[in-house]
Amino acid sequence: MSLYETLINRLPGERVRRDEPMSRHTSFKVGGCADVYFEPANAGELKCALRAAKEAGTPFTVIGNGSNLLVRDGGIRGLVIRLGDSFSAISAEGCVISAQAGATLGRLALAAQENALTGLEFASGIPGTVGGGLFMNAGAYDGSLSDVCAGAKLMDLGTLEQRDVTAEELKLGYRTSVLQYGGLICLEASFRLAQGDRDQIRAKMDELNRRRRDKQPLSYPSAGSTFKRPEGNFAGALIEKAGLKGLSVGGAQVSEKHAGFIINTGGATAGDILKLIDLVRARVYEMSGVMLEPEVRITGED
Ligand SMILES: Cc1cc2nc3c(=O)[nH]c(=O)nc-3n(C[C@H](O)[C@H](O)[C@H](O)COP(=O)(O)OP(=O)(O)OC[C@H]3O[C@@H](n4cnc5c(N)ncnc54)[C@H](O)[C@@H]3O)c2cc1C
Repeated sequence: MSLYETLINRLPGERVRRDEPMSRHTSFKVGGCADVYFEPANAGELKCALRAAKEAGTPFTVIGNGSNLLVRDGGIRGLVIRLGDSFSAISAEGCVISAQAGATLGRLALAAQENALTGLEFASGIPGTVGGGLFMNAGAYDGSLSDVCAGAKLMDLGTLEQRDVTAEELKLGYRTSVLQYGGLICLEASFRLAQGDRDQIRAKMDELNRRRRDKQPLSYPSAGSTFKRPEGNFAGALIEKAGLKGLSVGGAQVSEKHAGFIINTGGATAGDILKLIDLVRARVYEMSGVMLEPEVRITGED
């Protein structure tokens, strides 16, 4: 029996799909198909899907909103599990707000605002999920999840058991966390905030989102900043200085509005974006001696 057949037998079949285009699940809107795709609604379903993949010896990949993901044009072999809307409960208790991995950072920030809790305003415009956000230690405007994270519930991919970890154990650093070492999935996270004023929190979020709209090419598909910030510098500034604004490969372009973003101007393939990433890295290195490192996570087959 194929993994697909096993999953539709064991799990709600309407959330299991075969040959699912990853362009539907990435903000770049590119990428080939996942052999099998599933969106669990709880940790039990997630565990069941992972167990089936392990029994079948099939590789698996966990994703959130795909807003920091570049899937190659050949797609992803094995099982892709998306923790999204069906795994996104949020609750607040005192100054602590907890959310399942599939909750978006936007909804999390809004829930904090509704509960008059300050500390997550920076996250309101980041289009990822709590799980993907923790994986990347997402941040903006001098804030990052590491400033407010109180801990998380993880699943160990070896044993499929759950365990609670402290913020220290998550080893959150600049765009990194223990989740990047492999072997763990984030199921839930909690954030310790401070009492604030609802209107002021709302105003701060509106202001940051206005700055985002002014500076970033939000009308085009992208994965946000393509490259990490190099020590003591800015990727966008180095790219602009190298004269690369507007440089294109196929439908992929270095944004004219913000050189730190590679955008899909329409019809780009993952191959176009990857070629443009290589070109930008080579030219910036030639001009400034800095080798840019992609922030975007690249996965799948050519
Ligand atoms: C327009 C735009 C603006 C952006 N602005 C910002 C910004 O200001 N700051 C910023 O930091 N980022 C920004 N990003 C990038 C992106 O939103 C963040 O990196 C976000 O944290 C990614 O979350 P995601 O759910 O989309 O993760 P995905 O892209 O789905 O996945 C990213 C990585 O996390 C892993 N992962 C996802 N969920 C889990 C989980 N539950 N457990 C374990 N691993 C998991 C995946 O395997 C993958 O390797 C922006 C992106 C866009 C498109």
